[in-house]
Amino acid sequence: MKELAKFRDPQIAKALIKEVNAVAARVAERLGRRIVLMEVCGTHTVAISRAGLRGLLCDHLDLRSGPGCPVCVTDYADIDRMVALARLPGITVATFGDMVRVPGSGSSLERERAAGAEIRICYSPADAVAYASAHPAREVVFLGVGFETTAPAVALSIKEAARLRLNNFSVFVTHKVVPPALDALLSDPELKIDGFILPGHVSAIIGLKAYDSLNARGLPAVITGFEPNDILDAVRQLLLMVLAGEGRVINGYARVVRTSGNTIAQQQMDEVFKITDAPWRGFGTIPRSGLTMEDRFKKLDALERFVLPPTKSRVPSGCVCGEILKGKLTPRECTLFGRVCKPMAPVGPCMVSSEGACAAYYNFERRQRGGTAVE
Ligand code: SF4
Repeated sequence: MKELAKFRDPQIAKALIKEVNAVAARVAERLGRRIVLMEVCGTHTVAISRAGLRGLLCDHLDLRSGPGCPVCVTDYADIDRMVALARLPGITVATFGDMVRVPGSGSSLERERAAGAEIRICYSPADAVAYASAHPAREVVFLGVGFETTAPAVALSIKEAARLRLNNFSVFVTHKVVPPALDALLSDPELKIDGFILPGHVSAIIGLKAYDSLNARGLPAVITGFEPNDILDAVRQLLLMVLAGEGRVINGYARVVRTSGNTIAQQQMDEVFKITDAPWRGFGTIPRSGLTMEDRFKKLDALERFVLPPTKSRVPSGCVCGEILKGKLTPRECTLFGRVCKPMAPVGPCMVSSEGACAAYYNFERRQRGGTAVE
């Protein structure tokens, strides 16, 4: 606890803010524009908003949210498939809580539940396996959503279901891996990102070495933790690299992240999943950015087991979640933000998820500097 206290110490925070603002002014003068730093993690987005860091940093700095909320980047077509699965007779859809309220093209799991579908909220994929084991008359489909942080536990549950020879359990896999999304962001000619604040939890699994290709691009990037001073120090290191004209990936979260990551978790993933192209909301298909089941587990793949009707997915009119996930817009630039779209009546996933940028801005920042004060 004593060790953790320094990452929340207000005096250290004040000194960091002072230094960050001074260096940012120098960098902005040199570049002749604002400096754009992107946090690639929904938990960082929430931590930045909750601590009010945007309001404490100078106008030379533009902290943008990226594609780090797993629920938010799940493609509309995948949400529509989840709804279609829930409508099939005899099926129980088991899912983490956030997915239930995400609107698809015409419905959501929440609405399907109100209409009689069986939707179970699980706290871990193991709960879904246990439920399937206890209810052999039901077909249980677990929704595998998330990045490298959740995929190992889902892999374990698939192995366990195979070991138990459960023939009423399957997984709809929409898992994604983070590094290819960084490449996609850097390949977009409309985006000018000066540095990345890299995710702490994902990096704990994949390790520093997973960013070799980012390192080779020479862009400043810092892996960091979730306390205010972790984030401020990452911003400070990013600015110093930009000022020096240098770029590399720094591990600023060495108390948790190792160079090779969590090799046991990686092994679990490698055993069950293989890399595939995947659709990301706002991005389209990103090559080699998703996971699919290895052939020997295919009979536990929900999309192999069930035939779903074709869907014609559409984005809700006015929702700019896709642009927010790419860092091209901020939540306040959405005309629906705080007026039509609120956490209790979300139009898009970025307002549903606890890690969504719109929800974070709404919950913590809407009355702060430059905000569109609502309510
Ligand atoms: S405020 Fe709502 S409608 Fe606008 S981008 Fe965010 S989630 Fe979509």
